[in-house]
Amino acid sequence: MRLAIFSDVHGQVGRLSACLEAIARTGADELWCLGDAIDGLSARPPELTVACVRAINDVCTVKIAGNHEAWALQDQSLPDAAVALIEGWSVAAQRDGILAVHGSPHNPLMGRLSDERDVREALRRSPGWLCAHGHTHQAALWIGRGDGTIERQRRPTSQRIGRSMRAVACPGALSGPDPSWLLVDTVRRRLTWHRIDAGPRPGPVSADPYPDRARHATTLVMPMPK
Ligand SMILES: [Zn+2]
Repeated sequence: MRLAIFSDVHGQVGRLSACLEAIARTGADELWCLGDAIDGLSARPPELTVACVRAINDVCTVKIAGNHEAWALQDQSLPDAAVALIEGWSVAAQRDGILAVHGSPHNPLMGRLSDERDVREALRRSPGWLCAHGHTHQAALWIGRGDGTIERQRRPTSQRIGRSMRAVACPGALSGPDPSWLLVDTVRRRLTWHRIDAGPRPGPVSADPYPDRARHATTLVMPMPK
């Protein structure tokens, strides 16, 4: 099984189309989206938000909600057509030895897996060989070895995760300056990052992806997965 995993589209439908075309060329078996498909804090045209949500909902087998989906549902700021679809998304999914979340296993919406302590906790809570996450906007790979050591790869390209290893991986953000997605071969346990041409920015994007985090941090409400 080959899974194409992407995250943090933040409503950038141009980047999403470029990514979906690149994925189609690889013939991946399934697509997974790790959340923040929309941007709940910027005033994107509602029809673009609906188009983005609909495209992801149509093509992805696993659809994870991120903090931006949670904020938008909470603020009731989304078009009804988008709400109806996003309400069917979950905050975590587990398949083929892979746990998928937006933030982290211990804080699915807002956790940031960017230091070794949190990565160690993520590995502890991940039942399989891989925890795939978004939210940090950085392509990243952490490898946990059998002897308890953890190795960090800041700019990963391709890596086989041996049977004695487990991993925490982020595909990167499609909305970021260096957009990338992740192909996971679940049989060979190989992770391969694919970069896409950033092209012209379709609109202003905040340098801080969470400019309003203080307001939202304590008030998130999302259903937990069944
Ligand atoms: Zn996020």
